[in-house]
Amino acid sequence: MGQDEVTLADLPLREDLRGRSPYGAPQLDVPVRLNTNENPYPPPDALVQDVTDAVREAATALHRYPDRDALALRADLAAYLSRSARVPLTERNVWAANGSNEILQQLLQAFGGPGRTALGFEPSYSMHPIIAAGTRTEWLPAPRRDDFSLDTGRAAGLVAERQPDVVFVTSPNNPTGGSIPLDELAAVLRAAPGIVVVDEAYAEFSAQPSAVRLLAEFPAKLVVSRTMSKAFAFAGGRLGYLAAAPAVVDALQLVRLPYHLSVLTQAAARAALRHAVETLASVAKLAAERDRVAESLQGLGFAPVPSDANFILFGRFGDAAAAWRSYLDHGVLIRDVGIEGHLRVSIGTPEENDAFLEASKEVAR
Ligand code: PMP
Repeated sequence: MGQDEVTLADLPLREDLRGRSPYGAPQLDVPVRLNTNENPYPPPDALVQDVTDAVREAATALHRYPDRDALALRADLAAYLSRSARVPLTERNVWAANGSNEILQQLLQAFGGPGRTALGFEPSYSMHPIIAAGTRTEWLPAPRRDDFSLDTGRAAGLVAERQPDVVFVTSPNNPTGGSIPLDELAAVLRAAPGIVVVDEAYAEFSAQPSAVRLLAEFPAKLVVSRTMSKAFAFAGGRLGYLAAAPAVVDALQLVRLPYHLSVLTQAAARAALRHAVETLASVAKLAAERDRVAESLQGLGFAPVPSDANFILFGRFGDAAAAWRSYLDHGVLIRDVGIEGHLRVSIGTPEENDAFLEASKEVAR
């Protein structure tokens, strides 16, 4: 049998992984790419120069393993989060990894796993159940309201009843865009028997304060997951982090791979963090554009779901897959997230958003 004739069915793959699909946002070369919620503004020259210098310096020590504990980077992340959430945090409260996806995987490796359960409110970030499957954590899907908001009273009741080892709450939620007030989040935390992961990948775009503010009240339960991929315009750099009690960071040492964050990643992320103020200036621009796009969509007869993030879920389409194709034919790549009658668009530059709205006029016909 030749290499190309071997299929998955011929491999001794774990039974529970058979028939599953990998995460797969299409990576297509299209003029307007509004499908993965990135920051559309490329890094400014000063940041590029600083990253280059930092990586050059780091390269002189490439024969050595990196700082396994990434202490300097964690201190920088703690300083940023303390400043923005107005909560005192140190490097002992912060852990970092290659994207928040790796953070979430480490959390399920430590707190989920065979015989354990993780509960999430769907529709939400599709990687949560995929990482659960990869770590053999049983996934418990729980509902949202028909308008995609979270009924936190009902959520707390369900958490109390199902007793999941891990609860995921995404705020703002991807792909629907809404965020959850802290008092409602606290109700879910009170009901939870185990860990509650608040996935705040889009927190910088939201008007709600960070759940980090609840750490003092729920130190043995709350983990807040964040990323530099969105507001920080560092998706290609792969840097995610969390804030939690120091014991949570200790727990993750048991499952993390040693030296998981390369010398280059640590140096580049620290350099990018030094430019936080300039980079995050784009957040207000993107939020204003988000509101403009939502209003325009409404004007075109679409129904945008209220969003606190840098993307908008909107409907209604008789055939969302056909509408997605039609956008692509107009040179605009958006996302079919598998919610009936809906598509999701990331907020781009004003020019990209105009191109999307022009295409929307055609699709609306
Ligand atoms: N959480 C949510 C809610 C997301 O939407 C994403 C990215 N799409 C992530 C986590 C993971 O992002 P990254 O690994 O780039 O930090």
